[in-house]
Amino acid sequence: MTQALKKLKEKLFLIIVILGYIAIFIFRPQMGINAVKNSGYYIKEMLLIMPVIFVLTALLDTWVPKQTIMKYLGRESKVKGTILSFVLGGISAGPIYAAFPFCVMLRKKGASIKNIVIILSSWAVIKIPMLLNEAKFLGFKFMAIRWVLTVIAILTFSWIASKIIKDEDLPQEKEDPTYGISINRNSCMGCSVCTKNYPELFEMKNKKAIVKEHDFEPDREKLKKSIESCPVKAINDYSITGNAKE
Ligand code: SF4
Repeated sequence: MTQALKKLKEKLFLIIVILGYIAIFIFRPQMGINAVKNSGYYIKEMLLIMPVIFVLTALLDTWVPKQTIMKYLGRESKVKGTILSFVLGGISAGPIYAAFPFCVMLRKKGASIKNIVIILSSWAVIKIPMLLNEAKFLGFKFMAIRWVLTVIAILTFSWIASKIIKDEDLPQEKEDPTYGISINRNSCMGCSVCTKNYPELFEMKNKKAIVKEHDFEPDREKLKKSIESCPVKAINDYSITGNAKE
């Protein structure tokens, strides 16, 4: 019973969406058809964009060491971190949902909450390539004033957010107490590559990978291969990646 309730809770959002579709189809069939078409369009768009984002995020995760992220985007990065966050968000291309895996990776490597908020916000509303278009259609004065006010608002909200949101409010990685292996469940996309590479250590549970209970020391080579082949770099082993916990 408790298990069934837990499963129901996990799928609650999906159930609400399906019920919403059913209700729309019953009461407004044409609106239902339009809703399915729009959803199909966005799912297609996500399927095209997200694999590229995952690959780029994984490459950045591999190439940029944690110390660098902490230095330029961490708590101590001060003004340079703020400017860099605006630049990163502002030069981005693609929809806002593409920013989330990127920000998860940055957060994992030590970027501060304030800078993450700045990146997400500027990704959403300050696209530098779009500023010229904005000036062309709405005039330079409009673009400049909106831009300045938006930057002030982002600075204010990111500061407030960093005071309210604490590290422990963010989803935590589950760690293997013995060997320091962890899987970031929020990043894991459930591709099950790790369970194929190292079935003795990883298994799938509720469409996410978990570290199996084990009493052996993991094989370094197999573990390294699993970490490297995870497309979203969700697996962390502190002795291999050197990503010491903060
Ligand atoms: S390889 Fe990575 S993304 Fe795929 S299931 Fe394992 S942890 Fe999740």
